[in-house]
Amino acid sequence: MAAYEDIVNLALRRSLFYPASEIYANAPAGMYDYGPFGAAIRRKIADQWRKHLVQKENFLEIDGALIMPEDVFKASGHLTNFNDPVTQCKKCNTIHRADKLLEETTKKPYKEAMPVQELTQGLREHNLKCPKCKGELMDVKQFNMMVKADVGVGQKASCYLRPESCQTIFTNWDRLVKTMRVKLPKGVSQIGKVFRNEISPRQTLIRQVEFNQSESEVFFDPQEVNTIEHWEEVKDYKLRIQKADSNKTEDITADKLVKDKLVSGKLIAYYLARTQQLFEKLGIPVQNMRFRQLDDTERAFYAKEAYDFEVQTSLGWMELAANNYRTDYDLKGHANISKKDLNHTREDGSKFIPHIWEISIGFDRAFYAILEHSYNKQKERTWLSLPPTLAPIMAGIFPLLSNKPELVKKAEEVFAELQDCYDVQYDATGSIGKRYARMDEIGVPWCITIDFDSIKNEDVTIRARDSTAQKRIKIKDLRDTLYQLITGKISL
Ligand SMILES: [Zn+2]
Repeated sequence: MAAYEDIVNLALRRSLFYPASEIYANAPAGMYDYGPFGAAIRRKIADQWRKHLVQKENFLEIDGALIMPEDVFKASGHLTNFNDPVTQCKKCNTIHRADKLLEETTKKPYKEAMPVQELTQGLREHNLKCPKCKGELMDVKQFNMMVKADVGVGQKASCYLRPESCQTIFTNWDRLVKTMRVKLPKGVSQIGKVFRNEISPRQTLIRQVEFNQSESEVFFDPQEVNTIEHWEEVKDYKLRIQKADSNKTEDITADKLVKDKLVSGKLIAYYLARTQQLFEKLGIPVQNMRFRQLDDTERAFYAKEAYDFEVQTSLGWMELAANNYRTDYDLKGHANISKKDLNHTREDGSKFIPHIWEISIGFDRAFYAILEHSYNKQKERTWLSLPPTLAPIMAGIFPLLSNKPELVKKAEEVFAELQDCYDVQYDATGSIGKRYARMDEIGVPWCITIDFDSIKNEDVTIRARDSTAQKRIKIKDLRDTLYQLITGKISL
């Protein structure tokens, strides 16, 4: 596993990600741009999410507006509850996150959900001063993290940038039920940008103002929480669980999770299993992951039951996904404020508001954690052992020498042939060793070299990133060989 600095250095060297608007010295902190290879890797992580969670589970995927009216956030509770506790310096006016400041200086578990009085008391007891100028700190107060985005010229409509992607799903639900032949349980997903006025953005992609999130909301009848299709497929699958009252991770089967009442029903155990399986496919070793059961003091204001999916990194355990049993909190709230009837009717005529299980994934953090877990360094060689499905480019294609027209011509032919089916990149600059190194560093799994024998024999050398093993393959078989390599049917 890599150190944080290794990843940031690699990211800057190869433009995977870097500070947004970096040519301007006054650009605000907490925003990052992704360069070509970084954007490609993140897009492919999203593709795997779409394939394994959205499509295989028959969820509906929507793509909603980023700006939403104030009423949405009245209904969701964000205007009153989406707060961070802050304290301001009386001398230099800098605003600090009170809980973080306390936690970092006292090493005690101060939480954002603690009452402001308790946090103020903590500041006074430990006699904390402004870390910047040693000035006096004010009493702790709540700061709302929503980013305002009023729309219109004359009479402005009061709007906000969405702080999470799920609210669109709730406002769309009624329409989807009426037009998409929805039968419960049913998942609806959305992926995209969300915005939070983070007081102390830090650690590059880990705590940002603007970030990428996917949310899947599974709507179900609370009386049917034990009914889920394909239960047999996960029943004996072992989940990595850390119970709220424990500090160690246990392997517990989905079935036992239900029997021991660690979750409310099979539907929840099923989706916890599917979430863990997704991260396995993304290349995170299972021994480095866990679901941490949250206790009453840690759960979000809307959650009855919650498990944070965390992955071990050089920065400690990092939360990549929040899994929440939101009950009927959301639809009830939206029904109240919008005055729409969001009830469902059972076969026996009884009415209910659907309950919701939520799987909320932070894609920038997932991207970061995947980089750490795929980073390798041996002497002068650095490579990312990304699963082929996440590689920004599937193969590099090189003429051995760039000043030999016959090699260049052949290499261009091979490139044109493969470009139709795979993300391939042609590279004729520098020595072969340098070209391999460039591809290794961004996780390209295979490199194909065209040399003088290629002209005589219609074959090429293919080299594997992780083992550096090489093999000669006929040009006519390349497409099929690559397919078999990507799907893991063969290896070099
Ligand atoms: Zn100060």
